Order: sequence, then structure tokens, then C-alpha cells
Amino acid sequence: MSNPQSLTQLFALDSLLEPEEIAIRDTVRKFATDRIRPHVAQWFEDAKLPARDLAKELGGLGVLGMHLDGYGCSGMSATAYGLACLELEAVDSGIRSLVSVQGSLAMFSIHHWGSEEQKQEWLPRMAAGEAIGCFGLTEPDFGSNPAGMRTNAKRDGDDWILSGTKMWITNGSIADVAVVWAQTDLDEGPKGIRGFVVPTDTPGFSAPEIHAKMSLRASVTSELVLDGVRLPSSAMLPLAKGLRGPLTALGEARFGIAFGAVGAARDCLETAIDYAQSRIVFDKPLASFQLTQAKIADMALEVGKGHLLAYNLGRIKDRGEITPEQISTGKLNSVREAIAIARECRTILGANGITLEYPVIRHANNLESVLTYEGTSEMHQLSIGKALTGEAAFR
Ligand SMILES: Cc1cc2nc3c(=O)[nH]c(=O)nc-3n(C[C@H](O)[C@H](O)[C@H](O)COP(=O)(O)OP(=O)(O)OC[C@H]3O[C@@H](n4cnc5c(N)ncnc54)[C@H](O)[C@@H]3O)c2cc1C
Repeated sequence: MSNPQSLTQLFALDSLLEPEEIAIRDTVRKFATDRIRPHVAQWFEDAKLPARDLAKELGGLGVLGMHLDGYGCSGMSATAYGLACLELEAVDSGIRSLVSVQGSLAMFSIHHWGSEEQKQEWLPRMAAGEAIGCFGLTEPDFGSNPAGMRTNAKRDGDDWILSGTKMWITNGSIADVAVVWAQTDLDEGPKGIRGFVVPTDTPGFSAPEIHAKMSLRASVTSELVLDGVRLPSSAMLPLAKGLRGPLTALGEARFGIAFGAVGAARDCLETAIDYAQSRIVFDKPLASFQLTQAKIADMALEVGKGHLLAYNLGRIKDRGEITPEQISTGKLNSVREAIAIARECRTILGANGITLEYPVIRHANNLESVLTYEGTSEMHQLSIGKALTGEAAFR
């Protein structure tokens, strides 16, 4: 057997990155490998994440809100943020979800749309992982179409009273602060949607955890119940008007997923190659059979192309030119290919592939959620379809 190449060598991936980006990637990879990988299968099996400790360690690493400037954030490039997402998701999509929701959804919303007081109050603690944030947009009856949301905020003197239910909210039960989107009567229709910064110890707020998930078990998912939550007028995000508020934040998180899912795919493929080299079938290594090599070669093409697409999106975003439909190409392609790769790698591992001893089935199950959240595949197809045809087919 000649010396096998890595995927990185095959696609000369490092030649596309700056030395500083490689250093950040390697630091996050080392943290993920040393600190998370040894424990994550158990966290997944137990459906218990030591989220508070982990958040502080991730804060110490500098990855929470790492692409934001000031307020204790690291101010790194979009590409560096993407590379961090890739390395975290190579270990588990649930860990990347914690970081995405904290940095791209909750912190980004406050950073981009918040008042100076809101930024000062929350961002430094969130960057350090001392405060955890969540982002409440989806409702039981409104996922793909958030414009229909029923959660509402009504004026009572200078205060706001929030009522409604949010569903499937990552970090909900462990959050110190929730960014909640609600209908107001400030404008008619979706333009009246505004964001509110809700400390989770406010009376009337509760966040029961959702159990019996078969996907993203190493991630906390919750319902948010807002039962007449009274907030001062200063709780509203002053600059977010209409759905553009939450959708801009979602664009940030989807960008991270375009990188992240490639990490899950890479981990599956590396596991399968490693397994195939040592597993003996019919007196020879599984890796020496042509059918196995055809699978590996085809998957390597998709993992390589996934990296190239994500890196290109990173460069476009760093130039400040990225569009929502470009982000859709990355989110849709990376997750769809990653889930297909996870399933194909599972076949290479045979029966061993169905256990948590190997990461492949865990990635496959996690990717079912990743395929659905941050815009389903169908929503991203519709976004790309609209961009190419000029016809909106959402309704
Ligand atoms: C583990 C997990 C974590 C999550 N975390 C968060 C979070 O932190 N914050 C948050 O706000 N939300 C979160 N979500 C919710 C997620 O964003 C929604 O589940 C998602 O937007 C889809 O909404 P839905 O589940 O209501 O599906 P629906 O909108 O009911 O869609 C069901 C199916 O119909 C399809 N469909 C819908 N409309 C159309 C159409 N016009 N044309 C064709 N097909 C269509 C969809 O693509 C999908 O296949 C999370 C979800 C999961 C699973």
C-alpha cells in the first residue's frame, strides 16, 4: 500500500487559506478533538450536554460571536468563522449549533439591531460564554413561513407585554437571554414584527425542554412559553423592523452551516476510509475492493467541492458582497451532500456503522435536523429558483 493522501492534500485546500486562517482552524480542531470528541457520543446517548461549562470553554477559545467586532468579540473574518464551524461540526452538529445560535443568531441580532445599552449589557458576557443566548422565531404552526407568527407584543403604558409560544428553540432551557420575535401593531402585517431582548428570569417566561429527539441529542432544544411577559420599552431591538431582522441573522447562521456540514461529511468519510483500510473481508482489506474505492472517490469529490464552495462563499462574504441566494447554495448543497455521504459511509462500516462507537450514524441523525433548520432544503431551492427565474414560488 502506498502512503495515502489526505482530502486536504487531494484538493490542495490549504493553498486557498491564509496562514492566520489555518492557525485558527487548527486551534479549533485541536480543541474539538481533545475536549469534545472523547465525550460527545456519551452526551448524545444520554441527551445531556454540559452546556454551561462548554460555553465558557468555547468563550475562552474565542469562537462565540467571533466574527463580530468590539464588546469582547474576536472580530475575525467570516472565513475564519466558517472554518471554526467546520471543525466543530466535524465533531458534532450539536456543538456547532450551540456556537451558531449564540454567535450568529442571538449575539448578531443584538450587535446588529440592538441599542448601545443592550450591547453593553449582553455581548461581553455572551462572548465569554458566561451568558447563553437563544433565538425564538419558529412557532408550533409557523416554521418555514415566520411571517404568520402569532406571538405578539402589546403596549401597556411604556411597557411591552409578550404572549405566545415558540417551538424548537436551540439553547432555550439553558439561556440567560432570549431574542424573541413578535407581532406588534407598530406597522401593518409582517412589517410589525419586532425583536425583543428577554432576560429569561422575567416572570411569565418558561422554556420546557423537548425530549425524545433522535437527532441533535447533544444540543438543548426547547419550547419558549411567553405568558404575559412584561418588558420595559428599552427591551425592543430598536433597529430591526419587519422580517429583515430575523432573516439577516439567519443568513449569518446559514453561512456557518455551509461550512459546518462539510465538516460532518469529512469526518464520516475519514472514518469510513480508516475503517475500510483495517476491515478484512474476503481475505483482503475492504479498502482494496473497487466498489469501495468508487464510493470513496465519489464522496471525496463532494467533500472537496463542498470545501471549495464554502471557501468561495467565505471570500465573497469577507468582501461584503454575499447575497441570500448565494448563502442558500452553500447551505442546501453542503447539508444535502453531507447527509448522503453519512449514509454511504454507514454502508462501509456495515453493522458497526449503526453504533455510537463510530461517529457516522450520529452525524447522519444530526444532519436530519440541519437539513430542516435554518431554512429547509425546499426553502433554499425556492430561493435559488427565484434568483434564477425571477419568479417567486413560495406560495
Ligand atoms: C433541532 C432543531 C433546532 C432548531 N432551533 C431553532 C432555533 O434555535 N430557533 C428557531 O426559531 N427555530 C429553530 N428550529 C426550527 C426550524 O427552523 C424549523 O423547524 C424550520 O424552519 C421548518 O419549520 P417547520 O418544522 O415548522 O416545518 P414546516 O414549515 O411545517 O415545513 C414542513 C415541510 O413543508 C415544506 N414546505 C413548507 N413550505 C413550503 C412551500 N412553500 N413549498 C414547498 N414545500 C414547503 C418544508 O420544506 C418541509 O419539508 C429548530 C429546529 C430543529 C429541528
